Amino acid sequence: MGISMEVLYNSTRGKAVQVKASEAILKGLSEDGGLFVPDHIPVLDKELKEFAGMTYREVAYEVMKLYLTDFTEEELKSCIEKAYDSKFDTEVIAPLAEAEGAYYLELFHGATIAFKDMALSILPHLMITSARKNQIQNEIVILTATSGDTGKAALAGFANVEGTRIIVFYPKNGVSPIQEKQMVTQKGDNTLVVGIHGNFDDAQTGVKKIFSDRELAEELEGKGFQFSSANSINIGRLVPQICYYVYAYATLLKEGKIAEGEKINVVVPTGNFGNILAAFYAKNMGLPIGKLICASNENKVLYDFFRTGVYDRNREFVLTTSPSMDILISSNLERLIYRIAGEDAERNQAWMAALAGEGRYEITPEMRDALADFYGSYADEKETAEEISRLYNSCGYVIDTHTAVASAVYRKYVEETGDHAKTVIASTASPFKFTRSVMNAIDGKYDDMGDFELVDQLSGIANVAVPQAIEEIRTAPVVHDRQCDVGQMKDVVREFLK
Ligand SMILES: *Cc1c(COP(=O)(O)O)cnc(C)c1O
Repeated sequence: MGISMEVLYNSTRGKAVQVKASEAILKGLSEDGGLFVPDHIPVLDKELKEFAGMTYREVAYEVMKLYLTDFTEEELKSCIEKAYDSKFDTEVIAPLAEAEGAYYLELFHGATIAFKDMALSILPHLMITSARKNQIQNEIVILTATSGDTGKAALAGFANVEGTRIIVFYPKNGVSPIQEKQMVTQKGDNTLVVGIHGNFDDAQTGVKKIFSDRELAEELEGKGFQFSSANSINIGRLVPQICYYVYAYATLLKEGKIAEGEKINVVVPTGNFGNILAAFYAKNMGLPIGKLICASNENKVLYDFFRTGVYDRNREFVLTTSPSMDILISSNLERLIYRIAGEDAERNQAWMAALAGEGRYEITPEMRDALADFYGSYADEKETAEEISRLYNSCGYVIDTHTAVASAVYRKYVEETGDHAKTVIASTASPFKFTRSVMNAIDGKYDDMGDFELVDQLSGIANVAVPQAIEEIRTAPVVHDRQCDVGQMKDVVREFLK
């Protein structure tokens, strides 16, 4: 086997930019406002059946080494070992649960019981390693906008990590009570959590603005700080997410559920388009994936995009019971647009400018043809609740609201196409994180119970122990109560870095 080819990272908005993986991780976002993308998608260099004999960590190494080519074997393995350890409540890290013939890939066994842990338990280690490799002396300030789950997972990952600080902005009225409690009880002197008066898109746009504020960057550089991002725009988030698709395939193969080379479909409950983009990368690396099924909630901007080729965020922002998918500007879609536009940064730049200006753009017919592997659909609030209750009543398996969106969309897909290929549904959160919505979907009688009473009820009916992440916050004191308007985000950052 030859030496693997180096992967460099280009910006989706600028021709001239090309950096190594460690630099892309450190920067988060390119200075021209673009996202970093690999200059080519590497191909898996092991046989599928070899993966079937590997642990999660081993698979993670085999996948990540192909992207993070400036990391040494020792550096990468050390990051992987620190990330995928007893913080996860199962040895296999990402188990597959079979229910009604579909395979739910449970990505919520980490410290904060949502799939963000899969990448955010390793990102701090990748970041620190990258800083060391590039002789960075500055303290790294992680700026994060969250629709609820990224925030806590990033806080848990970066709390008390030397040489880093982390600031999280979340929509004050746009997250579940458990999500909020998880964040505002976060310990660690290097952490700051702020509720903004606005929605997730406002938080994300505000953070992007701070990132591209050269004046502020210079001012803080003088004080020994530099920004980076823990959002899924960071390739240090995207790459670790590819691993579990390979691992899921390997598990199905190991358990004899599929033959080697057999194509599987993948369903992903989608918000910022990071998770499903990781599946797209896995497919392009040679993993036998048939359809990439993109599931949206009532904020169905992606469904409309796949149907019409028009991306249009000019619509009402709906608050749903799957808040982590309440997003109208799916940042990672830019990486796909860039790719299907033939890696043309100039054209991509024009579409993104149109999105920022008029709030819409339309892709070409050739580009639409390149999206044939994707299928988009959505589930409304009623269908989502019914899916939770239906699945529970049919087999006792309880899923969270986000996973239920995916599950409901999967039923629609099968009905519409008759495609019965083996299917993996990304199960992105524990039902314990969205207890009230989940229990209400199952039975109206839970309506007037308290949040933690509901947790115990759920544990009883699902026959699953209450996760440690929930036990922790039952009695934890609130340590963050800061709120601000969208226009004040920059001042809040300045103040924290005084
Ligand atoms: C973040 C999140 C999603 C959406 O994932 P994207 O990568 O942003 O598309 C779905 N479900 C849950 C529970 C999440 O936390």
